[in-house]
This record gives sequence, C-alpha cells and structure tokens, in this order.
Amino acid sequence: MKLSMFDDFRLGVWARDDSIVDVTSVLPETARPSDRMSALIADWARVESEIRDAARSTGRPRSQVTFRPPQPRPSKILAAPVNHGPHREEMIAAGAFKDVPGTIEKYVAFLKAPSSIVGPDGSIEHPDPTRRIDYEAELGIVIGAPARQVSRGNALSHVFGYLALIDVTMRGDEDRSYRKSFDTFTPLGPAIVTADEIPDPSVLELELRVNGRLRQKGRVADLIYDVAQLIEVYSRAMTLEPGDIIASGTPDGVGPLTPGDEVSLEVSHVPPLTIRVTARDPHHQPSTPGTP
Ligand code: MN
Repeated sequence: MKLSMFDDFRLGVWARDDSIVDVTSVLPETARPSDRMSALIADWARVESEIRDAARSTGRPRSQVTFRPPQPRPSKILAAPVNHGPHREEMIAAGAFKDVPGTIEKYVAFLKAPSSIVGPDGSIEHPDPTRRIDYEAELGIVIGAPARQVSRGNALSHVFGYLALIDVTMRGDEDRSYRKSFDTFTPLGPAIVTADEIPDPSVLELELRVNGRLRQKGRVADLIYDVAQLIEVYSRAMTLEPGDIIASGTPDGVGPLTPGDEVSLEVSHVPPLTIRVTARDPHHQPSTPGTP
C-alpha cells in the first residue's frame, strides 16, 4: 500500500487507479493532524485491514490533492554518513577528509532535526547565497514496530515502509547535524510504500535529476551498511520508535543546488519526489508552512 498525507494533513491511501482515498476516520479524533502518520503506524495492526479495504474503492484524482510530507513529525531522523562505496570514493577525491578517509564505520550516524522536513507542496529554501548546498538522493526507511537492540536477522520486520528522501546538505566545517538540519533540508514523499511491497530493499535503485538532467544513479545494494544492519546498529544505541525515519546514505554524484532548480528523485517501486529550490524569504517563517 501507498500512504500519503494531503490537503489539511488528511490521511490518504492510494487506490489501484492511483486516486487518493481519505482514511483519516480510522484514527481517533484526538490525533493532531501532523501526528496522524505516527498514530497510524503505531496502531497499524488494528487499522490495516480497514485501510486495505478502502484502497479497493476510488478516491480523488491525484492532481486534485496537495501532497504534504507523508511523515511530518517523526520523533527523530537518523542518517547514515558516507554509507555508499562510490560516494565514499568521490568524497576522498574531493578532499573531504583531512586525515583518514571517513566511512560509516567511523561516524556511524548523525541526527537531522525533524523540523527540517518538507513535502512536495513546499520547496527547498536556500538559506545563504554565500554557501553551497548539495542534494543527496536517499532511500528513507520508516520504522514500524519499536526497535530496541534488534538483531540483523530480525531487523526488516521493524520496517513499516520506504519513501523517497533528499538529504540536503550545506558544505562546510560545522557539525553535520547543523549543516543538514536547516528548515526544508529533508524533502520527503509523496508517499510511504509499505514494506510488504518491498520485501528486499537491496533491489531498489535511485535516480536523481536536476532540471531534467541525471545527476545520481545508484543502487541500494551498494550501501556499506545495508538496511538491516543500519537498524541493528542504531537500535543498539537508541530505541527506534514507530514513524522514525532513517536516511540510508547517498550514492555518488552529489552536487550543488541553486534557487530556480527543480530536483526529482525516483526510487524504484516508490512514487517520485519532485521539488523546487527557492531563495529563503527574508521574512522566513519556520519550516513546513501550514503544519498545524
Ligand atoms: Mn546523506
């Protein structure tokens, strides 16, 4: 199944004809609109069959809904640094490492602020024309059942689904968690594809285009820590909660974004994400305008 948030943070499931069926009513009314996806994932065992039935009907055409980020409020976004062989090589060639070349075995993880999330309805806001910001095409992993000290062999049973994620990054010497957490630096969506449709994420491929030109093409199979190992390693340190997101690492081909660009990310079996880059409005308001 494909799940989205749309319009006024309504919960939607994609029907067979790719129209969007409103399933907001499966949740208690007390759920705050931007928390609905986390609530849905936490309550999945109870609501799954009802949502599966709804997906057999017909909803509103996709062209008539506004897609919000499909998971606006995870408790955390964990991200894998230098987790792809060819990307590691290009970082070494670019002189990114002062001494020993870094890799995920050395850095393990960084955190991105959940407030950096933006959906297809927004834009990537370039915050400072004197700084370079780069795109990073990634497979996003959405956690389902809570994961605490999970073994690699059991890790994929803790995945709720997958989505297209761009880990926008300011280049520079500041800590990663700062450079990657600016408002709008985590575009997501438009949908989460549930894990039953992707039993083996290593078969997925990613293609990122800027203004229609192919810039990144990579395989999840080339990750240094694969999806199961990321969950094993991270859940050893901290509990992964329903709705948490892991950015699994980018392939080679990273490069800069400037205002006016249009970026699109295609992950196989996952609906594509297209988003524009704008200059940050000097009267900028906090991220995801309209998030209740
Ligand atoms: Mn990244």
